[in-house]
Amino acid sequence: MNVVATTSNKHQGVRVLGHLALGSITKSATEMESSKINGQCLCGEVQFFIEGEHFGIYQCHCSECRRITGSAANSSCIVPVGRFSWVKGESKITSYIHESGYRSDFCSRCGSAVPSIMRNGEHFWVPAGALEDVGQLAVAAHLCVASKARWETSLSDGIRYEAVPAFEELAAALGVARESRGRST
Ligand SMILES: [Zn+2]
Ligand SMILES: [Zn+2]
Repeated sequence: MNVVATTSNKHQGVRVLGHLALGSITKSATEMESSKINGQCLCGEVQFFIEGEHFGIYQCHCSECRRITGSAANSSCIVPVGRFSWVKGESKITSYIHESGYRSDFCSRCGSAVPSIMRNGEHFWVPAGALEDVGQLAVAAHLCVASKARWETSLSDGIRYEAVPAFEELAAALGVARESRGRST
């Protein structure tokens, strides 16, 4: 998660009124609905949804991600801001920033990891485990495999990176479409 933690303030009005249909044929309501994946924290105070198929999940196996999750790895998606929407609970989010710069946003009531806007302002970091398991998600990359826990003996499919790859490289590996926001690559 080192690559995606933001350093400055969060959640300030990066609400998105979806520009999925801009300049192209408008998707039908059913198509839109079928590509929507809801997410929430354990207690339900924080809720959101993402839109779009084939978001690859990356798992980071670094020691910070192990501590914050209490598990072998952090499992996350990178979602363009145009495909992310808060439903409720932004005011219930607390941010912890470690001295290393590692940032964790969580529900103040139940402690679950929750999404946060990334440093580039163009994507949200989304904890994959908070999403409904709808079968459109699969692990596409493993980060920091050189520092994974010794007790983690096997990894699922996906590209393996010894450390943290460049953001663009990771985004490409995850199939994250670059949403146009008036700029082009
Ligand atoms: Zn909660
Ligand atoms: Zn990590």
